[in-house]
Formats: sequence, C-alpha cells, structure tokens
Amino acid sequence: MNTYKKTLKKKPIIIAGPCAAESEEQIEIAIREGKQRKIDFLRVNLWKPRTKPGFDGLGEKGIPLLVKVAKADINPALEVIIPEHAEMVMNAVLPMLRKDGRLLLWIGSRNQNHLIQKEIARIASRDQRVYLLVKNQPWVSEEHWEGIIGHVLSGGIRKVNLINCHRGFMPNGHNPLGLRNVPDFTMAMKIKEKTKVPILFDPSHTGGIVENVLKMAQEAAKYAFDGIMVEVHHNPKVALTDAKQQLTWKQFDKLLKPNLN
Ligand code: PEP
Ligand code: MN
Repeated sequence: MNTYKKTLKKKPIIIAGPCAAESEEQIEIAIREGKQRKIDFLRVNLWKPRTKPGFDGLGEKGIPLLVKVAKADINPALEVIIPEHAEMVMNAVLPMLRKDGRLLLWIGSRNQNHLIQKEIARIASRDQRVYLLVKNQPWVSEEHWEGIIGHVLSGGIRKVNLINCHRGFMPNGHNPLGLRNVPDFTMAMKIKEKTKVPILFDPSHTGGIVENVLKMAQEAAKYAFDGIMVEVHHNPKVALTDAKQQLTWKQFDKLLKPNLN
C-alpha cells in the first residue's frame, strides 16, 4: 500500500485545518477532529490575504481562539502578514502553551517584502517553541525562493525552527488539469537539497478543487516531502474562503491513506 505516510522516511509533519478561522464553533470542531488524528499543527488562520475585498479573517479579535487551541493541547498555526501580528500572537499564545507545545507562524506566498520577512523571523527567533514556515512566492523563480530562506535565516531564525512549503506557482501556459497553482516538484527537491531545510507540500493551493487536491497529494507522495499542509473544514460548502478546495475530515483521512473507502 503506497500511503502518503509510508512514502515519507521520517514521521511527516502534518498541518491541517480550515483556510480561515470563522467562528468558535468551527474551531471547537477542528480541535476535536485534529486531536483525534494527532496532527502536528491546527490551522487557525486569522489574517487572510485576499485577491478582492471580502472576508479577510477575524484578525486580532480571533486571538482568543488561538489561546483556546493552545489550552486544548494542540499546536496552533497561522499566517502572520506583518511583524506586529507575530508579536501579538506570541505574546498571547506562548504563556498558554502546554508542556511540549509549539506555535507555528507562517509567511504566505504573496508576502514578498524581504524586510518584513526578516523582521518576522527576528521576532519568531526569540522563542525556541516557535516554528517559522515560509511558502514559495507565486511566480516561478528558484532564485527568489531560495532568497526567502536566506532572508529569514538572516533575521535570526534557526534552521531547526524553519520549515519550507511548496504551494505551486501561478499557471503560465501548460496546465492540463486546470490547477490553481502548478507545482514544480523537481525545483522543490532541489531547494530542499541546497538549503537542508525540511519542506512540506500544500496540495490545497495547488489543487484548487477537491478532486485535484487529492490528485496533487498523491503526486507529491512520490517525492521526499517532509509533510503536508492541507485545508480541512467540517462543512466546506459554507466556508467563507476557499470553499471549493477545502476537504472534509473524512476526505483528509483518504488523502493520508488513499486506500481507505
Ligand atoms: C494559505 O495557506 O492560507 C494561503 C493563503 O496560501 P498561499 O499563501 O500559499 O496562497
Ligand atoms: Mn486558503
């Protein structure tokens, strides 16, 4: 059986949960589902970069949800867009972490100001319980992607606290499956080899629709990724963002073990 888990050499890092935190009820369900599956980090995303104006996250008023997650003994993960977000979240969450608890902050694909990247890394590096994840930029450039790693390292984050993530590149030409973003697995493996930073795969933002999310995860399982970041919602139909690509928790189980019925 060629499961996602078995293809990976070490224990993979699993990050899952909704695209955006929307309500207390949604996060309570996500805590329960995430804990059952012993995921490493639960997405509790408060600030959403959007293409057009719309729901762009609960923002600062969602911070109590992060605290709730940390108190429930599951590690929260979220995107921070500006250094103030990192500061605010660390101040609220770190004192509430349970024994061996961790906090994961990430820099999203569209956030390509290297001064901001470096400053977020500097703040994250203050506490060893904080992991920093960086996603590749939207356009195709190996040099730029490697540069992101360079910038955050120069901000002081230690390599053991750093995780890279491939979420594909904006389509430009050949895209027979109609992917939202087209992965370059060869480039991702090259960056892993060069930087020695573990790399995850994000099938959600490559796939764009459930069918392609599952396909992309299977494809990625042929490569030496160190884990995955997946969007999962208890009721994707009513999700306020990325409704078409969010999996149900049942579909997520199938993604991890494709032979499940
Ligand atoms: C996300 O993971 O919530 C996200 C917005 O992804 P990306 O930065 O890869 O577009
Ligand atoms: Mn999303």
